[in-house]
Formats: sequence, C-alpha cells, structure tokens
Amino acid sequence: MTSEAPGHCQCSCGEVEFPTPADPLFRMVCHCTICQRFNEATYADVVVYSAKNVQAPPAGKVTFDTYRPPPNVQRGRCGHCGKPALEVLAVPMLPNLVMIPRDNFPADAVLPDPSAHIFYESRVADAADAAPKYEGYWRSQLAFGRCLFTSLFRS
Ligand SMILES: [Zn+2]
Ligand SMILES: [Zn+2]
Repeated sequence: MTSEAPGHCQCSCGEVEFPTPADPLFRMVCHCTICQRFNEATYADVVVYSAKNVQAPPAGKVTFDTYRPPPNVQRGRCGHCGKPALEVLAVPMLPNLVMIPRDNFPADAVLPDPSAHIFYESRVADAADAAPKYEGYWRSQLAFGRCLFTSLFRS
C-alpha cells in the first residue's frame, strides 16, 4: 500500500488510459438518474480533478455526449468498450473539472473518501457510509460547490 496519489486511470478494457499525476480535489457520489444511466449502475462514484492536472486521452478514443445542459457536463465513454471514461465539467468563473469513475483506478489506489452523496432523493439504495447526504437539485449543486471550494482552498 502506497500513500501516493494514483498516477493513472483506465476504462475497463484499458483502451482509454491517461495520467492523473496530481492529487484529486475530492470524491463525490451522485445518485441522479443521468449518472445512473450513464454508468449503468445505481450511482456514480467519481473522483474530481482540476482539468489542468489531467492529461486527457487523445481525441477519437472517447465519445462525448451531453445528456442535459446546464450544468455543462460532457460525459465521455470509451469508443471501444463503451464504459464511462471521464466527464468534463465547465463551470463559469471556475477551473474546468474532470470527473473520473472511481472504478477506473486500481482497486488499491489511495483516494479520498467521498465527501458527500448528492441527488440522494433518486437513490436506488441507502448508502452505508457517514458522508453527508443531500437531496434536491439546488442543495445538491450547493454541496458540490462547497466540496469544490473547500478542496481548492485547502492548500
Ligand atoms: Zn474501454
Ligand atoms: Zn449525477
């Protein structure tokens, strides 16, 4: 077990693999129906990075879709296995963010615990952890923003 940030991530088939050399900002579990659909799972467990700290995969390897603007989230799947590879979030006035599914990192990667569960009202099942749970669009958006600001000003 190492205490270093995970240096790279990859989709389930390995076709989309890219470096994540810096520490992530935070980790978040989203229970919204779009994340459920995108991940073909009951929720999305994502690790959030500043876009400048991620070397995005070459164009053409990832197929991007916008499910619903705003917020402006581009959700990218691997063109080969079709599994989620990364999501790019552009927020006005803030650094662009990249969200990567937790499962795209090695099982033993050292990652932060989830800071919050958002859109908890659409959950398929209760979460067992102690992270705060937020329901509703605006409360969930605010919780995301608070995690972002806390992590940006932590250092
Ligand atoms: Zn793949
Ligand atoms: Zn979501």
